Amino acid sequence: MKTDAKVKPGDKLKYKNGLEFEVDTVEDIGEAVVCDICNGDYTESEKSGGFLFGSYAYCPECAKNRIANIQSHNEERFIKARCPEGKPFSKWILEDIRQGNNLIITGNF
Ligand SMILES: [Zn+2]
Repeated sequence: MKTDAKVKPGDKLKYKNGLEFEVDTVEDIGEAVVCDICNGDYTESEKSGGFLFGSYAYCPECAKNRIANIQSHNEERFIKARCPEGKPFSKWILEDIRQGNNLIITGNF
């Protein structure tokens, strides 16, 4: 998928709270889906499961392995969304979480 990159390095993004964010890099990662925890590549995988913990996408395996730890710390409230049963993790990330925005923007306030 081609993303129309309107943000470019050197741009200053103004936030509603008055903060200014200066863009360093803009990377279009296309439709690659990689777990934020184990870096497992799920781009071509049909495996279902996983959740969004804060801003981190946990793959089906990491979700399974870490849920007890999350529960023991009473941190289930940080699970913002869960992959619907039967839907591949990769499709869920692309369609429901990123919604067509495949840009990774880094920078500084
Ligand atoms: Zn993982």
